[in-house]
Amino acid sequence: ETLGQNLRRTVERHGEREALIVVSQGYRATYREFWDLTTQVAKGLLAMGVEKGDRLGLWSPNRFEWVVTQYAAARVGAILVNLNPAYRTAELEYSLNQSGTSVLLLAKGFRQTDYRAMLEEVRPRCPALRVALVLDDDWQLLLSNARHVSEHTLEARESSLQFDDPINIQYTSGTTGSPKGATLSHHNVLNNGFFIGEALKYGPEDRVCVPVPFYHCFGMVIGNLACTSHGSTLVIPGEAFDALAVLEAVQAERCTSLYGVPTMFIAELEHPRFGEFNLSTLRTGVMAGSPCPVEVMKQVQSRMHMREVTICYGMTETSPVSTQSALDDPLDKRVSTVGRVHPHLEVKVVEPETGAVVPRGSAGEMCTRGYSVMLGYWANPEATAKAVDAAGWMHTGDLATMDADGYVRIVGRIKDLIIRGGENISPREVEEFLHTHPGVSEAQVIGVPSAKYGEEVMAWVKPKPGVTLTPEQLTRHCSGRIATFKIPRYWKLVEAFPMTVTGKVQKFRMREVSVAELG
Ligand code: ATP
Ligand code: MG
Repeated sequence: ETLGQNLRRTVERHGEREALIVVSQGYRATYREFWDLTTQVAKGLLAMGVEKGDRLGLWSPNRFEWVVTQYAAARVGAILVNLNPAYRTAELEYSLNQSGTSVLLLAKGFRQTDYRAMLEEVRPRCPALRVALVLDDDWQLLLSNARHVSEHTLEARESSLQFDDPINIQYTSGTTGSPKGATLSHHNVLNNGFFIGEALKYGPEDRVCVPVPFYHCFGMVIGNLACTSHGSTLVIPGEAFDALAVLEAVQAERCTSLYGVPTMFIAELEHPRFGEFNLSTLRTGVMAGSPCPVEVMKQVQSRMHMREVTICYGMTETSPVSTQSALDDPLDKRVSTVGRVHPHLEVKVVEPETGAVVPRGSAGEMCTRGYSVMLGYWANPEATAKAVDAAGWMHTGDLATMDADGYVRIVGRIKDLIIRGGENISPREVEEFLHTHPGVSEAQVIGVPSAKYGEEVMAWVKPKPGVTLTPEQLTRHCSGRIATFKIPRYWKLVEAFPMTVTGKVQKFRMREVSVAELG
C-alpha cells in the first residue's frame, strides 16, 4: 500500500472525524477536508511539473502545511526531503545539493531567522534547485494551480506508484556527527506508523499531542502516520516545542496521548504553572529518542496521568521504531526497558567485533532487520554498506542488553562508552544515579581524555530551578554509593546542554567544549 491509498481508506471510514488541529495556526480539518487539501496540493505540484522521484525539499517548523505537503508529495511520488528547521546556510546548501532537491517549499522564517535570505545566499550554488515556494506567500498559488490538472492526471500518477518506491530522505539527528540522509519507502514508514498505532491501541477517539518536530521520523511517523493510519486526531501545539503550549493544548483539546523526548517531559513537569492544568484525559504516550531516567518515567505516570506511557526505541534508518513497550507490560519493564521487538521485525544483540550473538543479559551492539530497514543512505553506497550488512541487518551503533523474556535495555551508544583505565563505564548508569539527587534536574555524563587513565568521567549537571549545587556536594552524594572509578572526576554546572532540534543532547559537542576548557 502507498501512503495515499492508506489515507484514502481512513477517509472512507472516518471522513467526518477530525484529522488535524494546529493550535498556533487556529487550523482544524476533518479527514475529508484534509484529503481534499492534499488532493489540491498534489495537483498543484503536478502543475509545477513535479515528476515521480523528484526531490521535494520541505523546510519549515511544525505547521499544517507540513503534514499536507507530506501526503501530497507521496501521492505524486516525489521524494520528500525533510530539512531541519534549525539549519543554517552551510547545512541547507549541503542537504539541497546532497539530495539533488529541485523543488523547495519553505517557511518565511523561524525564530528570528530569515529562511528566504539564507536561501538567496546559497541558491547560486544549488544548480538542481528549480523552484522555491514560500509557504506564507505562495500556498494559495499552489492551490490555485491545481485547476490546471485533471482528476484523471493525478489518478494516473497515483496508480503508477509502487509500495517500495522511495518517498523520503530524512537526515539523522546529528547527535554523533554529521547528519546522514536515510532513504525510506512508503512500505518502510507506513507499516512502522501503523504498528506503532497498534501498540498504542489508537482508534478514532484518540487525540494525540505531538510537540516533536515533523522533520524527524518521531514527528512524521510515530506522530502523523500512526494517527492517520488509525483515524486518530493529530494535535499540534505550535511551531516548535514550548512546555506551556503543550500543557495548554493537552487540556484544551482533551488529548489522550502525548509525545516527547525525556527533556520535554522534564520541562513540562518542572513548569511553574504545571499544577494549573487538568491533564486527566491523557492515558498513553511515547517517550523516545534518548534514554529516560526512571525517576522521570515515574513522574510522567503519576503526575501526568500517563499510566500506559510507552517507550519506543529506534533510529531514522529503521523508519524509526524497532522495539516498544506494550501497554500491558509490567510497570518495572515499562519504565526501565525499551520493550520488545515490534511485529515483523527481528532484533539481535551482538559482539561488535565478531558479530556473534551475546548471551542474554550481556551488552553488545543492537542490530535490526526487517521491513523497516531503510533503502539506503541517499547517494552514499559506502556508508550504506557499513551500516547494513549483506544479510540485511542494520547495525545501530547502540549498546544494548536483552533479557530472557526479550526485553531490551539501551545501555548507551558505542561511541559514548567511557573506557577508564580498562574499565568500561556506561554514562547512562552514572546519569541514572545522579538523577537520584533531589537537586538535579538533568545530568549528562561523558568521557574526557586523560593521560593517566585514557579517559576520565565528567558530568554536566543542570540543577533544579532555585537550587545551588557544588561539585563537592555531588561528589559526596556519589561516594560510597557507586564504585569509586565511576564517580565523575570533573563536574560542570550548566543551565542547558548542546542539543539537536530533536531535543537530543550532543555529547560530541559537550566533549569539544570540555576538552577546550580542561586544556
Ligand atoms: P546521528 O546518527 O546523526 O548521530 P541520531 O543517531 O541521534 O544522530 P536518530 O536517528 O534521530 O539520530 O536517533 C537514533 C538514536 O537515538 C538511536 O541510535 C539511539 O541511540 C537513540 N535512541 C532512540 N530511542 C531511544 C530510547 N528509547 N532510549 C535510548 N536511546 C534512544
Ligand atoms: Mg544515528
